[in-house]
Amino acid sequence: MNIHEYQAKAVLKSYGAPVAAGVPVLSLDDVQKAVDTLPGPLWVVKSQIHAGGRGKGKFVEAEAGEKGGVRLAFNKEDVFKFAEQMLGKHLVTAQTGQDGKQVNRLYIEDGADIDRELYLSLLIDRATGKPAFVASTEGGMDIEEVAHDTPEKILTLPIDPMAGVTDKDSAQLCDALKLEGSAREDGMKLFPILYKAFTEKDMSMLEINPLIVMEDGHLRVLDAKVSFDGNALFRHPDIQELRDKTEEDEKEIEASEWDLAYIALDGTIGCMVNGAGLAMATMDIIKLYGEEPANFCDVGGGAGKEKVAAAFKIIMKDPNVKGILVNIFGGIMKCDVIAEGVIAAVKETNLAVPLVVRLEGTNVDEGKAIIANSGLNVIPADDLDDAAKKITEAIKG
Ligand code: ADP
Ligand code: MG
Repeated sequence: MNIHEYQAKAVLKSYGAPVAAGVPVLSLDDVQKAVDTLPGPLWVVKSQIHAGGRGKGKFVEAEAGEKGGVRLAFNKEDVFKFAEQMLGKHLVTAQTGQDGKQVNRLYIEDGADIDRELYLSLLIDRATGKPAFVASTEGGMDIEEVAHDTPEKILTLPIDPMAGVTDKDSAQLCDALKLEGSAREDGMKLFPILYKAFTEKDMSMLEINPLIVMEDGHLRVLDAKVSFDGNALFRHPDIQELRDKTEEDEKEIEASEWDLAYIALDGTIGCMVNGAGLAMATMDIIKLYGEEPANFCDVGGGAGKEKVAAAFKIIMKDPNVKGILVNIFGGIMKCDVIAEGVIAAVKETNLAVPLVVRLEGTNVDEGKAIIANSGLNVIPADDLDDAAKKITEAIKG
């Protein structure tokens, strides 16, 4: 689960990390409160969406001369003007796709006098199986380019989970970030704080880009992006409350309510399968036959008729779906149950696109008979190859 920058900063602040004063803004009425609370003389108006690259982003509705999704305001009038230009508009960044994301929240923050912009993040390093800091002096808006062109400027430092962040670790991070004087003192305190927040709150990623050294020599967290491990959310009701469903794919939310693993993709063939391995194989073979999957939908091992029908309906909500491939191996799951769920969903949704069903395993004959006797226009397939061939042909008409 992802949260907004302002929420991430509040979490980090509760652990003692240095963040600027700021006010979240949900409507234009809140802007007055923001300028009353924040002293100035510099304010920053920041679009809150679950995507990075906001500073370099562009609003679909922008007029000539308008800047990106993060703007510096040198007077109060500009704070109001920018808020009006941003709220409710669609911000396109390198991470949003071409339609952009509607900005429903802003964060108005104290402007900082920046000396240097650094990069710092914490994640789980799969190579060592440990949490690791990633640090670079080259922070700001182009870290992807740094990683690509000059990877030697990035330090990855795994942390021993039994020992936590030692002074030696912190010193190494300070060296990598070239921190001196009060910035170094701040850094020695900050790294353990971030590590504590990361582990206690079950974060899967914590990215601060930029972490800044200010003109006065102190450090400040200027941007914060946090993702939480969904499997651990049950023990963090405070974090669950931060969820902003308007930022998530509607179909993925519905799927999570049914405990379905559904990921929306860009292609045209909807897939309903059981088991992640079979899902991968199904997507691969669709590609082999020259088409692209519209989604990854895994109904899991023990799905009943209702869950299968729900999965089917979620897949049908995607307007790009031109055909559906159901590929199920009945192990624990029984093919007749799947067949009944598919038939029920086809009737309920008045399915208008071709449907190929490949069943194998427990009760396969009963399952096939249910489909054959349904009187519905369902194309049966014998094996995976046959199924892929039939669905890719069927969508071409
Ligand atoms: P994004 O990464 O989505 O582009 P950031 O929050 O990193 O958004 O902001 C982009 C840039 O805007 C930063 O690299 C920094 O230069 C500037 N900026 C952001 N917040 C402030 C602030 N409070 N004071 C001064 N400059 C800021
Ligand atoms: Mg940033």
